Amino acid sequence: LKAAVYYEFGKPLEVEEVTIDPPGKGEVKVRVGAAAICHSDIHLLKGEHGNVRLPAVFGHEVAGYVDELGEGVTNFKPGDQVVLTLPPVGCGQCFYCTIGFPQACQRRPVPRLDRKRGFSAPGRYVNQKGERLNQLSGPFAAFVEYTVTTEDHLTKIPDDVPIDRAVLLSCGVISGVGAVVNRAKVPIFSSVIVVGAGGVGLNVVQGALLSGAYPIIAVDIVESKLELARSFGASHTINAKTEKDPIETAYKMTSGRGADFVFVAVAGIHHLRSGFMMSGWHGLTVSIGHSGVENLGEFNQMDFFAGERMLTGSTMGNIKPRVDIPRLIDFYKAGRLKLDELISGRYPLEKINEAIESSSRGDALRNVIMF
Ligand SMILES: [Zn+2]
Ligand SMILES: [Zn+2]
Repeated sequence: LKAAVYYEFGKPLEVEEVTIDPPGKGEVKVRVGAAAICHSDIHLLKGEHGNVRLPAVFGHEVAGYVDELGEGVTNFKPGDQVVLTLPPVGCGQCFYCTIGFPQACQRRPVPRLDRKRGFSAPGRYVNQKGERLNQLSGPFAAFVEYTVTTEDHLTKIPDDVPIDRAVLLSCGVISGVGAVVNRAKVPIFSSVIVVGAGGVGLNVVQGALLSGAYPIIAVDIVESKLELARSFGASHTINAKTEKDPIETAYKMTSGRGADFVFVAVAGIHHLRSGFMMSGWHGLTVSIGHSGVENLGEFNQMDFFAGERMLTGSTMGNIKPRVDIPRLIDFYKAGRLKLDELISGRYPLEKINEAIESSSRGDALRNVIMF
């Protein structure tokens, strides 16, 4: 089978033949139908996450079809259309699953992120030279024709959802909408600011609209993205490049109070700090973007003392995959959630470097690799 293998930072991926391990106990082999390129992949490819081991097969936004079942798998059958998510379904038995955070399931087979260990782990593929290839955190890969993972990373979806739309539910949509509805639990009438109107930021906008927020203010430096944000439900926009004092403007747009909720959907501590400064009394700033290498050097204690401001993170929208993904599909089918508009381009695996190039320029929302 063909995989896009990453051998060296800053170099293009090599599309080549690899072999894959068969599914073991509790595992499923999935034929990849579509894989989207996320900005997290771009950070990884640029080496911005520190200790990423190469060679590796990357990608984590996947939808496809169940191909082969490992021993003991009874919840799926070959041909099932599925979305894969890094957050597992959870065992339902451990401490975190019991209190409603399956993302932190203590029985998940993947070790937790360790800064020293980095984001990658030996995976399921071997190249022609006999080298075992790494994968992002281990559970599955996307830029490859088949992937093997434990069944708790799979959510079955209806057959009539187009695979290129379904794949967006694997990361981008859930990271944005989920940050609003699951992590921050934004109540109706709240004011919301979104810093970064890319693939994830636009989903924050849709989540805010679904939650009954107003105003919904999108901040970006690209005018076309701000326009798009309006079409997704933003009531106001701020161009941080041309606006003299974006923080002051944000305050004006929120009746002089600052925002109740700020979502920072772009990597970089500087942006996180700017977003935080746009929050008002008791405002909650949620960091969604990440690059992994910068530290919180631009904050001081006074920022938290003054106004009891809060700062938190959101890991892939805090989702419960088999609850949230079917709901989002229902909303998509009912015309209440935009997915079609998020796709900038479709590429075959052979042209993955073009797709990555376009995504890293920042002019694409989601580029999708079609298999
Ligand atoms: Zn992602
Ligand atoms: Zn658990």
